[in-house]
Amino acid sequence: MATRGYCLCKKTSWAYKGDLTWSCYCHCDDCRRNCAAPVVAWLGVPIRNFEWTGDKPRTYESSKGVFRHFCGTCGSPIGFEADHYPGGMHLYAGSLENPEDFKPTFHVNKQSKLSWLHVNDNLDAFEGTLLHTPNDPDGYM
Ligand SMILES: [Zn+2]
Ligand SMILES: [Zn+2]
Repeated sequence: MATRGYCLCKKTSWAYKGDLTWSCYCHCDDCRRNCAAPVVAWLGVPIRNFEWTGDKPRTYESSKGVFRHFCGTCGSPIGFEADHYPGGMHLYAGSLENPEDFKPTFHVNKQSKLSWLHVNDNLDAFEGTLLHTPNDPDGYM
């Protein structure tokens, strides 16, 4: 059974099979500006289990070796790949078909969190990013 997602106009869409590798919030400035949102929720999946199912996205290299995918029609952010996270596709949780099914399990880049954003949870919060998640030593961020 596949998990699916799509952009605002629904032309760009994706699917993956199996389990996600990790799920988190990112408070970094790049994600914030990319989405014009105070915090961005992410999930990561192995790229071998992933496919684009509608229009292929366009891609912006937001910093060297960091590729942010977005819908070429409506502009919605939809995915992320980076040279330093080989083998993984990162997906914006807001693009999930059923975002209610998503459950973030930690925060990254807590040093960049906006002071007026109040997140009332007890999840682990890390400075910077993680190359490996606490629950999955073979995972990636
Ligand atoms: Zn779109
Ligand atoms: Zn970020």
